[in-house]
Amino acid sequence: MIRSKLTVIIHAEEEFDWGGGFFRSNNNITHGAELTTFVDQILATGVRVVLAMDYAFVSSEQGTKVIEHFKQQQYKNVEFASHLHPWVNPPFEEPTIDGDEIEDFYSFPGNLSADTEEAKLTSLTTLIEQKTGRRPTTYLAGRYGTGANTYQILKKLGYKLDVSISAFADFSSYHGPDFSNYTNSETSIDGIRCIPHTSGYISYCNGVANYFNRDSQNLAKFNNSFIGKVILKLLGVKRVRLSPEGYSYKEMHKLLKSLNDIGVENFIFSFHSPSVKVGLTPYIPEDKHLSKLRNDTLKLLNEFSSIRAD
Ligand SMILES: [Zn+2]
Repeated sequence: MIRSKLTVIIHAEEEFDWGGGFFRSNNNITHGAELTTFVDQILATGVRVVLAMDYAFVSSEQGTKVIEHFKQQQYKNVEFASHLHPWVNPPFEEPTIDGDEIEDFYSFPGNLSADTEEAKLTSLTTLIEQKTGRRPTTYLAGRYGTGANTYQILKKLGYKLDVSISAFADFSSYHGPDFSNYTNSETSIDGIRCIPHTSGYISYCNGVANYFNRDSQNLAKFNNSFIGKVILKLLGVKRVRLSPEGYSYKEMHKLLKSLNDIGVENFIFSFHSPSVKVGLTPYIPEDKHLSKLRNDTLKLLNEFSSIRAD
C-alpha cells in the first residue's frame, strides 16, 4: 500500500541545449502556456506542485504569466521555490570563457565562492518575493549542485527546506556533488530540512530492490566485483528516478512500491519545465514522447492519490 506524501517539483527554467554548454545569454522561455495547462492537469489529481523557478524563468514575460496564473493558489497546493542556475542569475562574478559562456565547474552553484553563491541566491530570492508576494522558503540547487557553504547561506536567507539531494546519485566525476551515501529518507543539514529527489533501485525481485533501497552501502558490495555485477544484471537491477523524463510508468510505479515498502515517507516526482513542449529537451524530440510523458505522469499521480485515500 502506498500511503505516503508525494510532491511534484518542476524545475521551471529556460530552454537550452543540455550538451552545448552554459551561456548567460541563453534565457529563452517559450513554453509558458503549455506549462500552465499541464500543471492545472496535475493539480486536478490532488497532488501538491512546487514550481522551483530560476532567474531566467521568473524574469521572463511567459514565466510572469505562469506566476500570475498560480499566484491565487500559493501555499494551498502550489508553492513557488528558488532554483539557482548560476549562468543566468546575476550578479555575474564567476569567470567566463568569452564573456558569455561560464565554465562547467561554475554551473554547480555550490562550486562558486561563498560570497557569489550568496549574492546570486539573494537576488533570486528578492526577485521571487517581488513577483509572487511571498519570500520563498524551499530551495533547489541548479544541477543539484549544493556545496560546503550552501546550507549556511540558506539559513541566513530564511530558507527552511532543501530538495537538492538526489538519492544515491554521484555527480562528482564532472565537478558535481556526491550523494551516493544518501537514501530517500528525510535528513537535516545545518538546521535545514532536506527531502531528496526520489531515486532508487528496481529489480525483477522486489526483495532485492528493497535491500538496495534500504542502505546506500548494499549495492557497493556487488558493484565492487565482476561476479557481483553479473548478479546485478541477472536480477535486472536498475536505478530509476521518479521522473517521466527517460523512465516509464511501470518503472516509476515499481520504484514507488519498493520505497513505500521500506517506509520512505516523502516522494518527489520531478521534471524540467521545457519538457512540456516538443523539441526543447533531449527527452521530448517528438509528439509521441510528449504524449507518453503526459499520460505516464497523470496515470501515476492519479493512482497515487487514490491508493492514499484508501
Ligand atoms: Zn535546472
